Amino acid sequence: MGIMKTAKEALPQDRPLHLFGAGHPMFFAFAVAMGFDFFDSAAYALYAKDDRYMTVSGTEQLPELEYFPCCCPVCSSMTPQELRASDDRQKLLAQHNLHVTFQEIRTIRQAIRERTLWELLEQRARAHPNLLAAMREFARYGKFLGKYDPITKKHFFVLSEFSRKRPDVVAARRRCRNVRGASVTLKPFGRVPQSVFECYPFSQTVPGIEKPKTRNDRQKLRDVSLYWFGEDVFPEKVRIDVSRATGKMRAAYDSKGGLLAVVRPNDFMLLLHGAAKKLHKGGKSRVVVSDEVQEFIKQGKSVFAKHVVSADAAIVPDQQVIVVNENGELLAAGDALLNAQEMADFRRGAAVSVRWSVSPTRRIQESP
Ligand SMILES: [Zn+2]
Repeated sequence: MGIMKTAKEALPQDRPLHLFGAGHPMFFAFAVAMGFDFFDSAAYALYAKDDRYMTVSGTEQLPELEYFPCCCPVCSSMTPQELRASDDRQKLLAQHNLHVTFQEIRTIRQAIRERTLWELLEQRARAHPNLLAAMREFARYGKFLGKYDPITKKHFFVLSEFSRKRPDVVAARRRCRNVRGASVTLKPFGRVPQSVFECYPFSQTVPGIEKPKTRNDRQKLRDVSLYWFGEDVFPEKVRIDVSRATGKMRAAYDSKGGLLAVVRPNDFMLLLHGAAKKLHKGGKSRVVVSDEVQEFIKQGKSVFAKHVVSADAAIVPDQQVIVVNENGELLAAGDALLNAQEMADFRRGAAVSVRWSVSPTRRIQESP
């Protein structure tokens, strides 16, 4: 794990990483979580040669198997006894091993899509002492992992003692320190201010969490802003739109009716519009782009990684960021699609999806 971390940190972020000498699917989830993209492809055949039957939790010996714990075409069409007696024993065993290998790759891809890779690691860690040791080591890399972890997810499950080491739990604990006021202890987070219960990851994780019935929406907006941005990005006088059906805040406007921010209902993230101006003064969460593209960005076009000059080192995927030119003048605000290091290293692809800009040419979408 230590070598994988060193490799990932030392190489430019846009280079794919191949993990040599590791073709067993039981390790794939850990290697992917460390940033690796490719694995050795000969293992499935080499294992078959030695009668070794791969599973995601380890290796079984074909002569010792009475039942197949698998539904691939090979395992569902014959028993271990029949496979042992077959003339194609090695070939069929290799087919099973390859099937398990691809199945695990698909499982990992889906977990990345659903942002549940950590949960998959916690499950895999239970299967074998070596994997448990790998998980212990992995959980120590919070700072490294935190750089790649999207700021919010749909939800997550607290599955084991490792859940409290999740980068999003660590980040939530840190953000809670920005907010004062009445708080309660919530596992695995510690003290959580009641005013931010609706923010990720609290209500998404702790079932039946009692939401405080506050009528002071301005105060709640301030606390949610402190939680996400470390400062109150709103003017003293704001009009807050609250949903009649759910009682949740939906958006904030200035005294002239200009949209300042939209509240995303699923994670209570504040999506910046006009409030970007105040965050800009604070100097945080900045992405600096080359002056040659500033007119496009001002009009609301996406920011491409190749035009990023520098980015605040604390930026993680999905975070709300502000986009400035080389003189620090505000151009736009939007969602980071990469972390700070990736923005600097990538030469292709989008870095920020712009949500609000200083002189838009198209109608700005008001819904999240
Ligand atoms: Zn099988």
